[in-house]
Amino acid sequence: MFKETIFSKIIRREILADIVYQDELITGFRDISPKAPIHILIVPNILIPTLNDVTIVHQQILGHMLIIASKIAYKEKISKNGYRLIINCNEHGAQEIYHLHIHLLGGQRLGPMLTTLKNK
Ligand code: AMP
Repeated sequence: MFKETIFSKIIRREILADIVYQDELITGFRDISPKAPIHILIVPNILIPTLNDVTIVHQQILGHMLIIASKIAYKEKISKNGYRLIINCNEHGAQEIYHLHIHLLGGQRLGPMLTTLKNK
């Protein structure tokens, strides 16, 4: 089956992380290497490696991740000014940890979403 990552250990609280939210479906914790003043990762408690591995059975979890992302944003006081959600997938998406996660980024004006397309 799928190979566990460090995120499973964080979810089970076997290693320390700054967990800001947890319920029976998902966990939210602060990124260890923040790219913005607020940088929180929202992950399913079950191991789904990438967005490519998502099926209709995960519909509730995925919807819940988005709803909770907005609730965490509100709690972190970044709702009004705004924030960005990112899901990286596989190599071209620069995914490092193969446990599906949404990055919630905010707390300052973020730069452009992507740099200019590189010439071939
Ligand atoms: P991605 O490139 O989308 O796979 O992002 C993985 C993110 O996980 C990166 O932003 C890392 O800084 C973050 N990360 C890696 N290990 C930990 C950890 N132990 N606790 C919190 N965040 C982590």
